[in-house]
Amino acid sequence: MPKRIAIIGAGPSGLAQLRAFQSAKQNGEDIPEIVCFEKQSNWGGLWNYTWRTGVDQYGEPVHGSMYRYLWSNGPKEGLEFADYSFEEHFGKQIASYPPRAVLFDYIQGRVEKAGVRDWIRFETAVRRVEFDNGTFHVTVKDLPNDREYTEDFDHVICASGHFSTPNVPEFPGFESFKGRVLHAHDFRDALEFKDQDILIVGTSYSAEDIGSQCWKYGAKSITVSHRTAAMGYDWPDNWAEVPLLTHVDGNTAHFKDGTSRKVDAIILCTGYQHHFPFMAEDLRLKTANRLATADLYKGVVWVKNPALFYLGMQDQWFTFNMFDAQAWWVRDAILGKVAIPSRAEMEADVADRVAREDAGEDDYDAIWYQGDYIKELIAETDYPTFDVEGACQAFKQWKGHKKAGIMTFRDNCYKSVMTGSMAPIHHTPWAEALDDSLEVYLRN
Ligand SMILES: Cc1cc2nc3c(=O)[nH]c(=O)nc-3n(C[C@H](O)[C@H](O)[C@H](O)COP(=O)(O)OP(=O)(O)OC[C@H]3O[C@@H](n4cnc5c(N)ncnc54)[C@H](O)[C@@H]3O)c2cc1C
Repeated sequence: MPKRIAIIGAGPSGLAQLRAFQSAKQNGEDIPEIVCFEKQSNWGGLWNYTWRTGVDQYGEPVHGSMYRYLWSNGPKEGLEFADYSFEEHFGKQIASYPPRAVLFDYIQGRVEKAGVRDWIRFETAVRRVEFDNGTFHVTVKDLPNDREYTEDFDHVICASGHFSTPNVPEFPGFESFKGRVLHAHDFRDALEFKDQDILIVGTSYSAEDIGSQCWKYGAKSITVSHRTAAMGYDWPDNWAEVPLLTHVDGNTAHFKDGTSRKVDAIILCTGYQHHFPFMAEDLRLKTANRLATADLYKGVVWVKNPALFYLGMQDQWFTFNMFDAQAWWVRDAILGKVAIPSRAEMEADVADRVAREDAGEDDYDAIWYQGDYIKELIAETDYPTFDVEGACQAFKQWKGHKKAGIMTFRDNCYKSVMTGSMAPIHHTPWAEALDDSLEVYLRN
């Protein structure tokens, strides 16, 4: 009997895993039976845009946290697949900060070419994963048919993402605030906030990007409240950074330094939880959002039961090609081509990763730390090697470009570390490109 593998989620991480197995099959290797459970009706994970918020048509929590008008927040040269370049997909080199629809198309192109769609059971939500006697029992719900069933697997690979379940703080006065209070997870369309005074709580990527979106699409003013430090970019004139929100009184927001402002809406950009309610307690990852996740050997193997793997659970500088590096490594661990050591050795590995991350001093150290992690993984598999150092340099340039102009950094171009070609300048500066459809973006 061939082994059976369950993959939870068909976002970029789960799709990387499908492509990794398909590539082994293409090379003539025997691979296990693969079943990927995806609760949405299409693949792409967060990149599969939905207008919905709250619950979906089946009453399931909506996974999507992405919004209309989202453009890549880092250069595409840092995330490019080593086995499928942008040039291969689009037939030409494209500009460096593609909008969401363009990246979705790129992600989809590789798995369409690989022909792995049949391995996915869509609209099937994983409800429970339990382990006994060497076997995982995976209970899922076939949503359209309202039917629960359980199947057994030798391995489970959890790739369900960690930017979907919001972390929602409470501030006094929210219950009587006269405008809208929402978390970034429910933000969809910046035009909703046109001509409004917006308060954003938090300094995450979401804060920076949702604020920029609202600015681009005509918000009257943007105020960003920070707990510890301001983001410190050279913001437009109608943008202010203030200390932490203390309370809200009617439509007036009060801050820790005693200042106050009238605001029309409050957007909480306060992060996400690693949330795996379907995992039995002894299998459930509990970690902060950091580069060295808790309890994962090589960042992927669950140290308490090495038949279970988690993909993409790190905080992310690198994304798609890091998920690939992980997926190829997990594939080879399952195929017995790389060895998993004793529990004590795995725990020592985790402690070492945590210590090395903690020794880093700034974002640059973090970028190179994650770059080194990718190099470590791909050295052990046949994932096409690529110039990880060059990708780190692209991230370094990107940070410099953000400092030079937070509303213009997306107009810069970088060199592909996969093909060596330079991205062209986009036909329209980001701040003026209000129509970001695939057709308009790809126009020469
Ligand atoms: C607002 C926002 C903007 C971002 N912008 C960028 C960017 O510009 N560039 C970049 O590289 N990265 C960006 N990211 C990071 C993003 O995390 C990755 O690009 C990528 O989507 C992560 O892939 P994933 O497969 O690990 O997780 P996800 O994309 O979250 O996919 C997880 C999948 O698992 C499925 N799933 C979850 N639970 C279950 C269940 N119980 N049963 C069955 N299926 C389940 C979900 O439906 C989903 O399809 C952004 C993230 C957010 C939130």
